[in-house]
Amino acid sequence: MAEKLNASGIEVRTRVGGTGVLGTLRGTGSGKVVALRADMDALPLEELAEVDFRSSAKGVMHACGHDTHVAMLLGAAKILSKHRKNLRGTVKFIFQPAEEHGGRGGAKPMIEEGVMKDPKVDYVFGLHIDGDEKSGVIAFRGGPIMAAPDRFVVRIVGRGGHGSAPHQTVDPVYIAAQVITAVQGVSGRMIDPVQPFVISIGAVHSGTKENIIPDEAILEGTIRTLDEATRNRSKAKVTEVAKGVCKAFGAKATVEFEKDAYPVTVNDDAATEKAMKIVKTIRGTKVTVRKQLLGGEDFSRFLHEAPGTFYFLGTVNPRKGCVYPNHSSKFKVDEDVLKYGTASLATLAFEFANENGR
Ligand SMILES: [Zn+2]
Ligand SMILES: [Zn+2]
Repeated sequence: MAEKLNASGIEVRTRVGGTGVLGTLRGTGSGKVVALRADMDALPLEELAEVDFRSSAKGVMHACGHDTHVAMLLGAAKILSKHRKNLRGTVKFIFQPAEEHGGRGGAKPMIEEGVMKDPKVDYVFGLHIDGDEKSGVIAFRGGPIMAAPDRFVVRIVGRGGHGSAPHQTVDPVYIAAQVITAVQGVSGRMIDPVQPFVISIGAVHSGTKENIIPDEAILEGTIRTLDEATRNRSKAKVTEVAKGVCKAFGAKATVEFEKDAYPVTVNDDAATEKAMKIVKTIRGTKVTVRKQLLGGEDFSRFLHEAPGTFYFLGTVNPRKGCVYPNHSSKFKVDEDVLKYGTASLATLAFEFANENGR
């Protein structure tokens, strides 16, 4: 990436916040500073897509299409550098690692190392390839668009013993089953039903043999919310319910939420509206309003630094076998849409950077 940016005459910083790369293209006037972000990490999955550029790294594939984000942003950088003499402001190209990581992720370290400062970014845009939307559709939404993903671990400490004599024990497996059922009541009974909310327990760990009641059980789960008030309330309620159920059956419990979880991704309404108008001018695409989704994104952290929007490019094309969703081992992108993504990034950067610019 650094090489390609260099070749386009763009100033480059490497090793920013780990393996991040920052390119800066300075225009010829006094316009705004626009940042475009592409995440670039892959997922721990064996690729089963039948493509000639299938991953050559065993057990690692670009199942979320972040490779296409990199390609589209490099394309936009090339176009913008060619039009530098008409560019009034500055465009920053942020290539970010570790989006799929969660927790600290890759955006936070890059922000800490100053990618949103000197010059200070006025607008920030991020594009995601979307295995849920038809090829060529570009979808926007103002306000909250993606969830805060809050991972949690419940540790249930009972007292083990013989499977034939449960009355002498505090059975953490039985209690874990009660906790799994009870926390769903947070969703149904304690959260405003018009607020999107989901709670899933995705991992249960306990025991070694059928006739041994173990000492401990561990549950791992995730909560997804689209606003901070619901987020705080649901975390408190899950903790209360899990601990309460454990106490009722005589076990001790700790409930820990991941520190530093990604915030809700909230798009700026005005910037989103303006972006939709701009992107509508790209021939061959269809601009729509996207529904919210409960995945997490650390692009949310950039949106805490500057207004902007996170938007989506559809890639579903049954004719080409591009029908699998993001994170599937068969995820395959309709490459003919990449030009639209590239055009949208370049056009947004150009129009926003030239705002009031001379
Ligand atoms: Zn992903
Ligand atoms: Zn992704």
